[in-house]
Amino acid sequence: MFTLPPPTRFDLRFAVFGIPVRVHPLFWVIAILLGSSSRNLTDIAIWIVAVFASILIHELGHALAMRRFGQHAQIILHLSGGLTVPQPVAWGSGWANIALTPNQEVIITLAGPGAGFLFAALILALTSAFGGSIIITTILGFIPIPMAGFPNGNAILNLLIVSLLWVNIFWGLINLMPIYPLDGGNVARHIFAKSDPLNGIRKSLWLSVIAGGVVAVVGFIFLNSVYMAIMFAFLALQSYQTLQGGFGR
Ligand SMILES: [Zn+2]
Repeated sequence: MFTLPPPTRFDLRFAVFGIPVRVHPLFWVIAILLGSSSRNLTDIAIWIVAVFASILIHELGHALAMRRFGQHAQIILHLSGGLTVPQPVAWGSGWANIALTPNQEVIITLAGPGAGFLFAALILALTSAFGGSIIITTILGFIPIPMAGFPNGNAILNLLIVSLLWVNIFWGLINLMPIYPLDGGNVARHIFAKSDPLNGIRKSLWLSVIAGGVVAVVGFIFLNSVYMAIMFAFLALQSYQTLQGGFGR
């Protein structure tokens, strides 16, 4: 589990649907780094808007699903992306966290990428409703990613649409890989632990090692992404170290 970054003077605070949101200043740093392949300031600004909106919508998916099961939550955007943190509720004379069932945990986890896919579908529907066009690009030759835009329209709007679709669909799919600590890894842990209470978590960690290695190699060879290769090799190694540390027995 991540440790929560302490509040700073530069935190941006607001609420969406009654859910408190705190944006740590380092969030903007990671957003800029992710968009640094472009040297154009406008492009970087559009990219930051797309990343900010997408991560917020993803975390709102988690937070609203938690609230559906009676668990209040707070959203924090910081260096490692977004985090939805359960808030203790009044319980008798003290405070407690709601005990969630494994099925509820899985629904809460899937609600994050689910919110992103719904948002992407909304963008596609709006683009097509306003006379734009949708094209399907494929990555690795078989994974279809719908992209949209207005061929003779505003370049800034088009870049925003493409960035939002890319983050919500491509990252949404990547996030569902059964790799710790991604949402897919969390779902795998619950499914394995349910079917095999003794060794399930250990198996899900091995799956995380293998899937992390595969995504690193695929990202490097087929998508030419050094960033993906380093990140997923690191996540695979982290799962391997957790296994070596005796976790998940
Ligand atoms: Zn998530």
